[in-house]
Amino acid sequence: MSAPEFRLFERNLPDVETEEAAELVQTHFGLEGEFTALDGERDLNFRIDSDDSSFVFKIANAEDGEDVVGFQVAALKHIRERDPSLPVPVMQPGSNGQIMQRVTTRSGDSHILRLLSFLPGIPVDSAPVTQRTWREIGMLMGKLNVALSSFYHPAAQANDHPWDTANCLRFQPLTQHIADPVARDLVNFVFDRFRDVAKPRLDRTRHQIIHQDAHTGNVLVDPNDPNRVVGLIDFGDLLYGPVIADLAIIPDGTERSNDRLLDVICNAAIGFDAEFPLQEDEVDLLYDVICARYALGATVIAARNALHENQPGHMESNAPYVEALDELITLGADAGTREIRRACRFSPALKGADEDALLDARHRLLGKNATHFYSRPMHFEKARGAFLYSTDGHRYLDCYNNVQQVGHCNPHVVRAISRQAAALNTNTRYLYGSILEYAERLTAKLAPHLDACIFVNSGSEANDIAWQMAKIMTGRSGGLLMEDAYHGITGPIREFSPGHPATKLPDHLQGLLVPDPYRGKYREGTPDIAQKYAADADRAIADLARSGYEPAAFMIDSALCSSGVPETPEGYLRAVEKRVRAAGALMICDEVQSGFGRMGQWWGHEFHGMEADFVTMGKPVGNGHPLGVIVTRAEILERFTEKTGLFSTFGGNTVACAAGNAVLDVIEREDLIENGRVVGDYLRDGLRALAETRPLIGDVRGTGMLAGIEFVTDREARTPATAETSRLLELLRQRHILVGSEGRDANIFKLRPALIFQRQHADLLISALDDALGELAAT
Ligand code: PMP
Repeated sequence: MSAPEFRLFERNLPDVETEEAAELVQTHFGLEGEFTALDGERDLNFRIDSDDSSFVFKIANAEDGEDVVGFQVAALKHIRERDPSLPVPVMQPGSNGQIMQRVTTRSGDSHILRLLSFLPGIPVDSAPVTQRTWREIGMLMGKLNVALSSFYHPAAQANDHPWDTANCLRFQPLTQHIADPVARDLVNFVFDRFRDVAKPRLDRTRHQIIHQDAHTGNVLVDPNDPNRVVGLIDFGDLLYGPVIADLAIIPDGTERSNDRLLDVICNAAIGFDAEFPLQEDEVDLLYDVICARYALGATVIAARNALHENQPGHMESNAPYVEALDELITLGADAGTREIRRACRFSPALKGADEDALLDARHRLLGKNATHFYSRPMHFEKARGAFLYSTDGHRYLDCYNNVQQVGHCNPHVVRAISRQAAALNTNTRYLYGSILEYAERLTAKLAPHLDACIFVNSGSEANDIAWQMAKIMTGRSGGLLMEDAYHGITGPIREFSPGHPATKLPDHLQGLLVPDPYRGKYREGTPDIAQKYAADADRAIADLARSGYEPAAFMIDSALCSSGVPETPEGYLRAVEKRVRAAGALMICDEVQSGFGRMGQWWGHEFHGMEADFVTMGKPVGNGHPLGVIVTRAEILERFTEKTGLFSTFGGNTVACAAGNAVLDVIEREDLIENGRVVGDYLRDGLRALAETRPLIGDVRGTGMLAGIEFVTDREARTPATAETSRLLELLRQRHILVGSEGRDANIFKLRPALIFQRQHADLLISALDDALGELAAT
């Protein structure tokens, strides 16, 4: 051990008898009373009971000068100023008005004296604690850290003492003093792990001045109510260090309680987090920092016992530290961290074997038929921008995405949601500005006649309300849709969603032939192809009439997503709209897929030149936060609400509006629709170039950031490559690319990347597809 470190173990308590101490107090603080000696690691401490109050008299270690003691004094002063509710000792000025009194004692040494108020209560380690006590202590330390976050002192980084957890590794050589070889190995294992896994990350977490000594001997509770924390003492270990190290001390001493250590840790973390929100990296390091603290304790005590005699009572044995370490190491870092993360409600990070348990629980709790992508579902824990991060440490390019329009976990949207959630989350029956700001912004992006908004929670609900309105406005109950449309899950809208294979439509609905020039009834090159397909609307309207219905509305997804994103013939949808309007029906333009810039402009119906009576929105509106919107004409909304009330508890609540506004901010500020157009064209060009060498690619189509790739086994016959497409999905998954298949024959990839996609992302997809097609061709 080098000389300075050795000094850390020489306690050199001041050489002052009680009688002299009483004299010093009398002289410098004008106080008399009954003296009781207290424990202290570096300072000599006495309790003084005078007639009306009690005090702690501190004679500082001779090595601690004005800088070190002044640091503590300044900290206590700062804490009292910032948060007078914190139960910390109050400093009593001496007869000359100064807090610190420098004296020379009879032994000839020079010491600084201080007098502090004596805090009532009993130490936690002698109180009947509950789980709530640990939370309360966590809250106390959280509050203390808030107060200290605005404090600094030049002595903070020079305060070199053995209990600096973040710098514990310098004491690893002293593990030689741990007599029990098994305990020694355990402590060394913890130090090694701390060095390899935790230390570099810990150095990057938040640092500030921390108390670093809130173990169970230094926290006081009300003896009649152990959940009431009434005091925190001992500011001798203050230093500049990682915030998490302050929390990591709380369990120190709980070996004396019967609580499971990890429960104590979780409760302390919950309390701390409530007052001073923890960051994810800190939560992930807590287990290791606590282990390091125990390892340090076990080492320092063993070394002190070996090197010095007179230890204060609470340091007699390092066995409690070793036992605590044993409990934590037996549990394991992954399991421990998982529990702490769950306690603080950080998203779970589950790995490997846990997935089987998850799948079992999923079947049990969500039903055997709960759908999932891929035969073995993907398990993600995080996402950023264009990528999802799997629990086994891969990142997947999300080309399936049809919700996170401005990228996964877009920071602006996340902040908007969390700030509003922290401020107010309430409903449209109260007045708030954000919903009006949002409605103004949204309607400004649509044709002038679309000037009224209704807020709900999903695309299905938006379509359902639009359908109800259309029926009331027209007084009719027949509906038109595309043959294999999907519009949602509510009762009436499920009927608008025949799916693959198509279920038979009820009598009040008629499906239109899908205008698919690649594999549909009329193919490219057919003269008047748009009119030929549109004529099917006449047939549908006539068939409705034959069943006794007149059409109230035509519901149309402009992206024709569930039909496999066909390249609808130019003018087709305008021609259908003409027929629909001639029949007296209204247009419900479902923009759940096609809206918010997906098709290279704000709205899909405008891309096709249609005019909407209702625009329904979902998915990308809140970038993943639930929000559905119907925009219609004010007169329609008025007619409807005259007949029926309209209120959705969550629809358009303050948080949903924050999400909605933030999505618009990002699309506008970052010019994402233009980006989607440019990168989408680049992607399709790349895919078409790939088709020259990969015959399985029959057709590449789409617009903006929407693309379809149709796979065929025979380009002439356009035979759907169903099995191959399914295999390709899997081969791409293996190459960490996520796509989805679509179409009656499930032989079409539909790609809806986030509008933030860059050319480099497109390149990743193209080269992975090339590679996957190569593997497929070779088998
Ligand atoms: N319309 C379309 C075109 C959709 O694609 C979907 C969802 N896939 C919906 C409506 C229904 O939206 P939600 O799932 O939010 O109810």
